[in-house]
Amino acid sequence: MARYRGSSCRICRRENMKLMLKGDRCFSDKCAFDRRSYAPGQHGQKRGKHSDYGIQLREKQKVKRSYGLTEKQFRLCFKRADQMKGITGTNLLTLLERRLDNVVYRLGFANSRNQSRQIVKHNHVLVNSRKVNIPSYVVQVGDIVEVKEKSKKVAAISESLDTVVRRGIPQWLDLEKENFKGIVKAYPIREDITTPMQEQLIVELYSK
Ligand code: SF4
Repeated sequence: MARYRGSSCRICRRENMKLMLKGDRCFSDKCAFDRRSYAPGQHGQKRGKHSDYGIQLREKQKVKRSYGLTEKQFRLCFKRADQMKGITGTNLLTLLERRLDNVVYRLGFANSRNQSRQIVKHNHVLVNSRKVNIPSYVVQVGDIVEVKEKSKKVAAISESLDTVVRRGIPQWLDLEKENFKGIVKAYPIREDITTPMQEQLIVELYSK
């Protein structure tokens, strides 16, 4: 299935949670979820009861859409998490966190994951001094993720960096703000992911 191209705010309203998909707007009083915290559509205000399957499906959709993945990409990520040692659900979330587009977002070079995917694809980012334009690239401990010298002048990047304090940098990353550079200090752990996510429901869904 193709990438979702509809309204991001609609996703938050559908998943009944602020997923912070639109950068600055999410912190303003223009946030659609703050204004209308019910599901979109004609019957949105009558949130019905979900079956077990419905609850699992919604959780999967929430996580998938938070990270901006297609169903195929998300399935592949799950498969990889399932083959790793440890708890599959935790592996899944930490793998998603380690994606380059997410790291660029977490470091504040972009103010949303959509924007960070674009920044990566448009060759603005270097990993260990090499150009990497693959948003799904998975970072390793010790990797240095930085903005290309020429791209430091891009307004969207510098403006995002100015507002990163509002979001905070996760403890597994280190940011040298003045150099537009970040270092992967450690692998993320479950506690680093503060957005409420019930990953075991995704495992149950995909195990059927
Ligand atoms: Fe979600 Fe942000 Fe839109 Fe609010 S402004 S509904 S948090 S995407």
